[in-house]
Amino acid sequence: MKRGELLYEGKAKKIYLTDNPQQVWVAYKDDATAYNAQKRGSIQDKGKWNNRISARLFQFLGEKGVEHHFLKEISATEQLVRRVTIIPLEVLVRNISAGTLANRLGIEEGRRFARPVVEICYKNDELGDPLITEDHIAAIELATDEQVTQMKEIALKVNELLSEQMDRCGITLVDFKLEFGIDGDGRLLLADEISPDTCRFWDKESGKRLDKDRFRRDLGDVEEAYHEIWSRLGGETHV
Ligand code: 5GP
Repeated sequence: MKRGELLYEGKAKKIYLTDNPQQVWVAYKDDATAYNAQKRGSIQDKGKWNNRISARLFQFLGEKGVEHHFLKEISATEQLVRRVTIIPLEVLVRNISAGTLANRLGIEEGRRFARPVVEICYKNDELGDPLITEDHIAAIELATDEQVTQMKEIALKVNELLSEQMDRCGITLVDFKLEFGIDGDGRLLLADEISPDTCRFWDKESGKRLDKDRFRRDLGDVEEAYHEIWSRLGGETHV
């Protein structure tokens, strides 16, 4: 497997072509941004922890029947994934109030909802990833109704599976963001990453935030939080 030309550079990852047109090479970066890139910085070893955490969580979900893009780890900070065309939507699932939902609805953070909340945002940096309705999605042809239904179903299944798995590791899954893509065979696959950059993880006992909110809100111990999630998932000793 050879790394080819740079296809795309995002805020947290670089995507390279490979000699297989169905596969791309993902290099996770230490760069960190927040609030639509108004805040920028770097988190030591974030690329390594997010690559490993994401790989492990995709593998776990795959074993439970969730179809995803992950293929294999290439190095500490790189992984091989199936090439997909990303649907420009972010599917968020929330179990506990936090972040933009707490602000929008004027409720305190930390309240467990009567049922999981699914939100869909339009992945568009210029607009700041606004909430979007299913009618908007159909009207501007971002995805079909069937794809939206499927994405919501998969997101809720991922929520059940990940909530249980993280709970076993002493962590509360507060909320998370998923992205989906269509591969060369027309299959809808879970894509992007699942990491402390894209999920809120709170320690079950202390409530300590073990995710990117430590960077967003200048809470300190940022690197430690990413490492902690990797350790809780079993780290190197996981079989
Ligand atoms: P919120 O809308 O409260 O900022 O985010 C809800 C959840 O989705 C959080 O776990 C957050 O990390 C994730 N999320 C939402 N939008 C983005 C985004 O544009 N980038 C990343 N990395 N995560 C996001």
